[in-house]
Amino acid sequence: MKITLKPLGNIVDETMEELKDRVGGIFQCRVQMEAGFDDLGEAYNAERKQYLSSKLLTTLGRAEREERVVGIADVDLYVPRLNYVFGEADMVARTAIISLYRLRQEYYGLAPDEALLLERAVKEVVHELGHTFGLGHCPNNRCVMHFSNSLADTDLKEAHFCNTCRPRIIL
Ligand SMILES: [Zn+2]
Ligand SMILES: [Zn+2]
Repeated sequence: MKITLKPLGNIVDETMEELKDRVGGIFQCRVQMEAGFDDLGEAYNAERKQYLSSKLLTTLGRAEREERVVGIADVDLYVPRLNYVFGEADMVARTAIISLYRLRQEYYGLAPDEALLLERAVKEVVHELGHTFGLGHCPNNRCVMHFSNSLADTDLKEAHFCNTCRPRIIL
């Protein structure tokens, strides 16, 4: 099994490197980086001033059977019936996307905190990857598969799978 991370738009190299290391540590598998795409314009909705998450996900194509692909974006993502999403996964294509946009303290008018941003990003990546491995949402609010309704939920949960979810992941 390998996990491929792709920057969608302009993502700082350091952030990608850190994500690669931490996600690899959690899944204990090879994580590589590949070029994503720079132009996210096709997914932009001028009325909402947001980017259609599912559209970007489709652009990632299909991953190989023994691979998972995660796109890392830094724009405000939405799906039609929700105000925003932190990320989205496609279980059939084995792909996922997350955005750093609403994970930043600055978004909420607070002082920047790079460590916290990274922690949140890891949780979101691991969560969406969990979906690509067939996991649903978990009632345990400490488990990474717990649904994040808001950032407070993300901060409460850990970057790891609980004892119920972990054995269900087959790498
Ligand atoms: Zn989820
Ligand atoms: Zn769980």
